[in-house]
Order: sequence, then C-alpha cells, then structure tokens
Amino acid sequence: MTVLNETDSDPTDALSSVPMAGSRRGAPVVGKLKFCYGPMDCGKSTLALQIDHNHARQGRRGLLLVRHDRSGAPQISSRIGITRKATEVGAETDLRQLVRQQWSEGLHVDYVIVDEAQFLSPEQVDQLAELADEVQIDVYCFGIATDFLSRLFPGARRLFELADELQPVQVEVLCWCGLAGRFNARVSGGVVLRAGDTVVVADTESSAVEYSPTDAEITTVRYQVLCRRHFRLGDLGPSTAQHGQLRLT
Ligand SMILES: [Zn+2]
Repeated sequence: MTVLNETDSDPTDALSSVPMAGSRRGAPVVGKLKFCYGPMDCGKSTLALQIDHNHARQGRRGLLLVRHDRSGAPQISSRIGITRKATEVGAETDLRQLVRQQWSEGLHVDYVIVDEAQFLSPEQVDQLAELADEVQIDVYCFGIATDFLSRLFPGARRLFELADELQPVQVEVLCWCGLAGRFNARVSGGVVLRAGDTVVVADTESSAVEYSPTDAEITTVRYQVLCRRHFRLGDLGPSTAQHGQLRLT
C-alpha cells in the first residue's frame, strides 16, 4: 500500500488544510455490471451461487433472477447439488421494477444475480446497467455467449457491449477430443443442426418447429459442447452418447 505525503494531495483543492473526505473524493460510487460466460455445463450456476453466498455472508442482500427456467419452480441450481430459489424474469419484465418492488416492501438490494442471462432482452440488460449506475447495485450476470449457430445471443451481445467486466468461465468442459469446449451444438439424430429457432422451447408438440422432425427425432434433440474445429466440421466424435449432453425434453 502506498502512503501519500502532503504533495500528493489534490493540487486543485484550495482548502488543503481541511481534512480529505476520504475515498469519496475519488471516483463516484457506482455499481458494477459483470458478465461471466461460458458453454453449457461449465459451472456458471455454481459460480453464481458461490458469489451469492460470499455476499450474503457479509450481510448483503441480493436478488436472484433467472430467465427461461424450465423447472417450473424458478431456481438457480448447480450440478453439484446446491439450489436456491430465484425470481423468474419474463420477456416483458422491467428489472428496475423488480428492485423497486423490494424497496416498497422495506427490503434493500445490494446486488443482483441473473442466471441464463443470455435470454435477457437487450432492453433488460440496459435496465441492469441503469441499476448499477444510478442506484449502485452490483449486477452479476451468468450465461452462454453464443447460440447453437455460434452467433451471440442478443442478451449476451448487449452484455458484451455494456458490462464493466467480462469473465470467461472455463471449468473443465472439454470437447470429446480434449480441447476446450466453446460451442453448444444442437444435435438431432447424430447430426449437428445448422438451422432452426434460437430457442427451442420445451413444448415439443408444437407444429411451429421449423425442420418438422419426426416424433422420434424431436425427443432426441440435445446439446453437445464442441471445440471450434469439431463444431465447424459437425464431428460429434466416436461415442456421441456420453459427452456433456443435456436432454431438452
Ligand atoms: Zn474437438
């Protein structure tokens, strides 16, 4: 730590004999907007819950949000077995309103954690930036950067544009070849799909599915994490039945 001497004090301060008002004379206090991103299964939700735990232990109060939770009971759940209740964010939810609602109940909000943040709308990401800037709330977003076509999700794109800090999370998600897994391939019938809706909803009975698969195909739609080369080549490896797959239905 550096100890400042007299000559280091603010030369523009005409009242230099008045005690400094401490660190508040430096940068204004603002919240930070952070985005931790990585492929599926890389431990993002575990990290989200760890950060929540660390803050809560210091007596800070957080709001846990999740977008597109498939379980029906909104929660942030990690594959190591920890789960916490969360508030489901809808497509039209104003995130500033969620915070105001807490205030109106006499509760303070020190930080916000958003899981599956790639599914936020760009407008909702803007709202998070506003919460950080205007009411000094720290916002931690966790999500996947790119979709099954390797294009940025709109929410992720806006986070890349606005976040104060970007943090790749790479926790032992490997392609079958051993390289770091970076892309979530959508797989059906042993083939990497190259077209379709960005978000395949769990309602597989819907006739709106673009590639009109048979019932047998649709139940086998899953995701597999691949390195860039094998994503490009659509090469699922020698044994496609075991590698980091998530069933959608
Ligand atoms: Zn590979």
